[in-house]
Amino acid sequence: MIVVMEPRATEAQISKVEEYLISHGFKINLNRGEVLTVIAAIGDKRLINGHAISSLEGVHDVKFVQEPYKLAAKQAQDHDTVITFPNGVKIGGLEKPVLMVGPCSVEQEYEGLLKVAIAAKEMGCDFLRGGAFKPRTSPYDFQGLEEKGLQYLARAREATGLLVVTEVMDTVDIPLVEKYADVLQVGARNMQNFKLLKALGQCKKPVMLKRGGAASIREFLLAAEHIMYHGNPNVILCERGIKSFDDSFTRNTLDISAVPVIRKYSHLPIIVDPSHGTGKRYLIEPMGKAALIAGAHGLMMEVHHDPDHASSDGAQSLTIEQFKEVTRRLNKLIGRIDYDNKMNS
Ligand code: PEP
Ligand code: MN
Repeated sequence: MIVVMEPRATEAQISKVEEYLISHGFKINLNRGEVLTVIAAIGDKRLINGHAISSLEGVHDVKFVQEPYKLAAKQAQDHDTVITFPNGVKIGGLEKPVLMVGPCSVEQEYEGLLKVAIAAKEMGCDFLRGGAFKPRTSPYDFQGLEEKGLQYLARAREATGLLVVTEVMDTVDIPLVEKYADVLQVGARNMQNFKLLKALGQCKKPVMLKRGGAASIREFLLAAEHIMYHGNPNVILCERGIKSFDDSFTRNTLDISAVPVIRKYSHLPIIVDPSHGTGKRYLIEPMGKAALIAGAHGLMMEVHHDPDHASSDGAQSLTIEQFKEVTRRLNKLIGRIDYDNKMNS
């Protein structure tokens, strides 16, 4: 931590700051410049209240050198987190990127979901996605099949061997969703639902945390920190676009730069969702490729057996045929990228 004193700070004020820091276990180094005095303090920031220092007489500014997230930070461990599922599928680190595909919502007709799941398996994907609890902007829109949807997902898993990713919106539903899901998804709208994050910290299954539409990368990592702090180290981050000034062509602005940034500052896996990130099916392939080249550990894509009649997000869902074509090319790209290079690590 760096404490910058006011140009006219008195010796007594400087000493008081020093005493405060020392009494809280900090080692300090005083630097007297011609105009400013700067105190560099090394210690555990959790032991003090940053605001208490800022408000001491004579203090101009307090800057924290270390990132506020500790468990999610790259320095927290000497290797990237690789999550291994019971069937051997791995995500993170230098592992081959994974593909998570499926409809936005799990719908009444199970056969539709099964068709998508079979195609996903055929194309070498590892995860089936689908919402049984749907966060919808309007209360008049389809809200999800809830447990019936979870049962459909479990049936499709049995039929194909794919792992299931599905959203949980409320703490009370965690036991139910955990019973069926392999990965519990936290939606963008819930990224800062701290009670939910805390409860998922006690969950034994991995959590996929989506970036909030207006969240900074720091807030995103701190949301992951909540889950980890409460006991669950297996967090997968998902960049899914943020709000910006221009939504005339895309639903959100997909922040591809978040991928190498997160790989630099965190050891957690980071995947990208170009479906929600753009809102347009023609953009899934180019943005998915961009994400993979940027170092994403996987992609999440919406695929529907009949997008024109989908209960949600039809416009950004690929048909099964389109999905196969796109995935053929994505797989080629995945085969060509040298994931062993250290560029992103
Ligand atoms: C979803 O994945 O179905 C979803 C609702 O996404 P997001 O939370 O990113 O909007
Ligand atoms: Mn959706």
